[in-house]
Amino acid sequence: MKKSTHIMPTYKRYPIAFDHGEGVWLYDTAGNKYLDAISGIAVCPLGHKHPAFTQALIEQSQKLIHTSNLYSIPLQEELATKLCQDSDMQQIFFANSGTEANEAAIKVARMYGHNKGISLPQIIVMEGAFHGRSMGSLSATYNTKHQEGFAPLLEGFVRAPLNDVAAIEKCLSENSGIVAIMLEPIQGESGINPCTASYLESVQALCDQHDLLLILDEVQTGNGRTGKYFSFQHSAIQPDILTTAKGMGNGFPMGVCLIGGRAVDVMQPGHHGSTFGGSPLASAAGLAVNKAIHDENLMQNAQRQGDKIRQALQDNLADITAVKEVRGLGLMLGIELSIPCGELVNLARDKGLLITVQMDKVIRLLPPLIINDSESQLIIDTLTQLIREFCHER
Ligand SMILES: *Cc1c(COP(=O)(O)O)cnc(C)c1O
Repeated sequence: MKKSTHIMPTYKRYPIAFDHGEGVWLYDTAGNKYLDAISGIAVCPLGHKHPAFTQALIEQSQKLIHTSNLYSIPLQEELATKLCQDSDMQQIFFANSGTEANEAAIKVARMYGHNKGISLPQIIVMEGAFHGRSMGSLSATYNTKHQEGFAPLLEGFVRAPLNDVAAIEKCLSENSGIVAIMLEPIQGESGINPCTASYLESVQALCDQHDLLLILDEVQTGNGRTGKYFSFQHSAIQPDILTTAKGMGNGFPMGVCLIGGRAVDVMQPGHHGSTFGGSPLASAAGLAVNKAIHDENLMQNAQRQGDKIRQALQDNLADITAVKEVRGLGLMLGIELSIPCGELVNLARDKGLLITVQMDKVIRLLPPLIINDSESQLIIDTLTQLIREFCHER
């Protein structure tokens, strides 16, 4: 394949390009077929070439693509209503990516602090967190590899280990000016690390007690992936700020910051904006995805297929000592090995399966939510064989 010389080398790319897709399948330019068990990193819940989604894009693009947030956008209001119903939140800001959704969340939290007379507001964020690559969201992110060379980072973030309530209490007692706690209910980029339900409930209680905003980053976990519309709905909590992006547009770039509870009425005209956010075309895409998630029972399917894959891999790999844990919720799964296994990405691709490996040791699966029984069985069979071979050879 010809090496492109005009792309800034911010990604180390695999030597493969896709020509078209259908359902969970991608076809490369040489005509080879792959089961896409990563969905463009949790972006395509409906898979590729979903008929109703494609139709919605065609129809809206023939009618009106962009106006401006200077005017009211009926489709945007319709999508806002649906997403608020699905999350029990009250209002939405429309942006174009997960990073931007989190940037909005951070701004709301700071304004919330300033409104309370706190001049240097601090947000508690987690070890292992990934919130994006803009200066604000990068500062909230944990990975020092992502941060190196980009100092000075933004101040106003305090770090705590995940699933450690005492650590948060310690942050609160040692820092004045804490206004919010921000976390992913299941950390995706750092290797499928779930918060326990009891931890989330304790964090919510601390937020209530100290009048803090609970900010959940569901950029990756949202939109049905874990078996509920949003993964916080597996526990008895309700955030003040909720962000999502990735799966909500099935590949149309969009991200949102939803507010409720203590975050309502914080932002006023002029405080934030977006040229592209929530355009008629983006909103039509988002509405088509929302409709398909409900009409095609994709949350139930994510739960069922995810349980099946997790259980089968746990059983099939139980005797392999290098397999530490198979974990996750719905169709957001991680298989942690005790040995580096980045090479499995290439070995799986050679067998027609697209996966990623996070932090060098966690195989990540994020297949489309439309996956059927024979397709999920193919993931199980291919991975079982691959992981067994890989671990035995070491
Ligand atoms: C991917 C991701 C982001 C960043 O989203 P972009 O659309 O790439 O800007 C933020 N938070 C989480 C949890 C993510 O998985």
